[in-house]
Amino acid sequence: MSTVKLLVASNNAKKLVELEQVLRELGIEGVELISLHDAPSYPEPAETGLSFAENALIKARAGAVATGLPCVADDSGLTVVALNEMPGVLSARWSGAHGDDKANNRLLLAQMEDINVRGAAFVSCCALVTPDGEETTAEGRWEGTLLREPRGENGFGYDPLFAPADAPGRSSAELTAEEKNARSHRGKALRELAPAIAALRG
Ligand code: IMP
Repeated sequence: MSTVKLLVASNNAKKLVELEQVLRELGIEGVELISLHDAPSYPEPAETGLSFAENALIKARAGAVATGLPCVADDSGLTVVALNEMPGVLSARWSGAHGDDKANNRLLLAQMEDINVRGAAFVSCCALVTPDGEETTAEGRWEGTLLREPRGENGFGYDPLFAPADAPGRSSAELTAEEKNARSHRGKALRELAPAIAALRG
């Protein structure tokens, strides 16, 4: 079986490590993950999609076209029942500034202050696009509820406000990386996408 190079179109090194762990866990060998850092640079596309799948596909298509390699990308966020599934694709920019986690969390807490319907889910869509235009997507969800104040130091983004249904008594910022990867939206989406990645080897 041949080895295949796979571009991981993310500036977050942790996402590459997470994919590496999923492939190892599933016994998928012969896939060499290439980071954006190690690929010829290309302009990052604007994330203009209205769904996680659209944004993941925008990023994976751009990577495949620019490098000629099969490319995997993900888009993810928090959906809150009482906010009509928002912040959704705007999760990283909810308070206006991209990636200001503390400001995003403060705004979300204020918006939810008087609301007792606390259901929420993290959602991730992972897309795989090959240079000849074959496209596969997979979605993972992680259900839980929103806390009323931040708890825990691990993870990133909305983790201190999210109480996963499958980790009673803890926020997702109180889980170890291994505990989170075993349960998380991204882990689920990557595991579902793994057979399509394995099939790249021919
Ligand atoms: P992305 O990196 O463009 O997919 O943006 C995802 C945004 O959604 C992040 O900036 C976080 O605000 C939020 N998010 C996605 N996954 C997680 C997670 O596992 N924990 C906490 N926040 C997350």
